[in-house]
Amino acid sequence: MTTTVHFLENSVKKPKPNADQIAFGKHFTDHMFVMDYETGKGWFDPRIVPYEPITLDPAAMIFHYGQTVFEGLKAYRTKEDRILLFRPEENFKRLNLSSERLSIPEIDQNLALDCLKELLEVEKDWVPTKEGNSLYIRPFVIATEPNLSLAPSQTYQFIIILSPVGSYYKEGIQPVRIHVEEEYTRAVRGGTGRAKTAGNYAAAYKAQEKATKEGYSQVLWLDGVEKKYIEEVGSMNVFFKVNGEVITPELNGSILEGITRKSIIEVLKDWNVPVKERKISLEELYDAYSKGQVEEAFGTGTAAVISPVGELNWGEKKMIFNDGQIGDLSQRLYDTLTGIQTGEIEDPYNWTVEVK
Ligand SMILES: *Cc1c(COP(=O)(O)O)cnc(C)c1O
Repeated sequence: MTTTVHFLENSVKKPKPNADQIAFGKHFTDHMFVMDYETGKGWFDPRIVPYEPITLDPAAMIFHYGQTVFEGLKAYRTKEDRILLFRPEENFKRLNLSSERLSIPEIDQNLALDCLKELLEVEKDWVPTKEGNSLYIRPFVIATEPNLSLAPSQTYQFIIILSPVGSYYKEGIQPVRIHVEEEYTRAVRGGTGRAKTAGNYAAAYKAQEKATKEGYSQVLWLDGVEKKYIEEVGSMNVFFKVNGEVITPELNGSILEGITRKSIIEVLKDWNVPVKERKISLEELYDAYSKGQVEEAFGTGTAAVISPVGELNWGEKKMIFNDGQIGDLSQRLYDTLTGIQTGEIEDPYNWTVEVK
């Protein structure tokens, strides 16, 4: 790497959380990566510093107009004690796509990955050894200029923090019950749905609260225009196996392009399982369900990898997939992806990147 990353070591080292009961997103490592941006100067001063609160002016633009983007990926420790990342270049590519939408300056993808690798080298003891656990990586960019004008910030910070996390499935894979959201909208065409930006998630809480109150674990989002077509489940992409064919909603500008989604499509093609990215309406799904043709349904994302949908509730209509159990294809996809991520099985796609 051509840029030198300055390193200020933390003299205090925190104890690691208990590997058997790590709460998601609540524990952070000893260091973080920070880099600044100024218009005319570009990105500068990459540094690894002690993990600590950051000080911002109360007028910093992030607080007022939400100019910010983030990513989420994981580092896994293999049985041989190697540390692997899964398609990290895709995350930094997507970070730039999100930034482009939010008028945030891009970061050289290779530079960002090199900085992450350096941070991971410093923090490698934090990558959990327990099977199923991993180190969650959260890169994000915030607008820091103190200015209440409605215009893109002239200054930014790119920060990477690390958080050890437990297995998503502590008691084995549990299919989830989903509620179809017909009132609230997560994202619309032309909006920011395809960007990983804060506002999309804050805007989704209301529907999630409603679903939780009614005993469901997630919501199924419909398109914001016609409220007809299936988009995502919670913050996961969604797949259905109908009559031997796998269908996932096509990317339309409001759907977030998941890296898990992309990987699953590639694996299915490799296995010669027919897979289509196309519009699919709830009506069509219900119709196929009524004919007994919907074999499996699952959400996909970095956190769970595969989250089988056991039940889908659409007003008075209830759909139960595969008797509420994980389907064979879902299980096989889960085993394959997690196997590659953790170095358990061979990686024929060259998706994993080792951290030295
Ligand atoms: C992050 C995210 C996903 C999943 O993306 P992965 O890269 O597979 O983790 C899907 N939908 C939304 C809305 C997301 O924010």
